[in-house]
Amino acid sequence: MCDVYTLPDFTVRVRRSLRRKLRFILENGGKCCYCDRSLHEDLDTVLLASVDHLVPLAAGKPNHARGPNVKLSCMACNLLKSSASAYSIDHARRIIQQRRTLCKFWLAIVTAEQQCLLPAPVSREAER
Ligand SMILES: [Zn+2]
Repeated sequence: MCDVYTLPDFTVRVRRSLRRKLRFILENGGKCCYCDRSLHEDLDTVLLASVDHLVPLAAGKPNHARGPNVKLSCMACNLLKSSASAYSIDHARRIIQQRRTLCKFWLAIVTAEQQCLLPAPVSREAER
C-alpha cells in the first residue's frame, strides 16, 4: 500500500517547503506586491506564491539574492515580468501590465487559431 506516510522523503520535503514558503508569504504581507492577489488563502494560492527579484539574479550581483530586491509575487506576475530588470515596484508593475496586455492580444489570436482546428458545429438544418 502506498500512501503519504510511506513516502517520508516526499513528506519531509513538502512540509519543509510549505513551511518556508508560508513564512516568506506572511513576512511579506501575504499579497503579490504587483497585483495584490492574496497568496495565503489556501493551498492553491500558497502554491502560486513565488519569489521575484526586481533586478534578476542573472544580472550577476550576489547581494540581489536577498533584502529589498526580493519580492513576494504571484506566479503570473513573476512569469510576465520574467527577466526584466526593474528599478522599483511601480516600474515592475508597468512592465507587467504592458506584457499582460500583449499576452491578452496574443491569447485572443491563438484562441481564434485553435478554434479553426475544431470541427465545425453541425447545424439543426443539416441534422434533418
Ligand atoms: Zn501578481
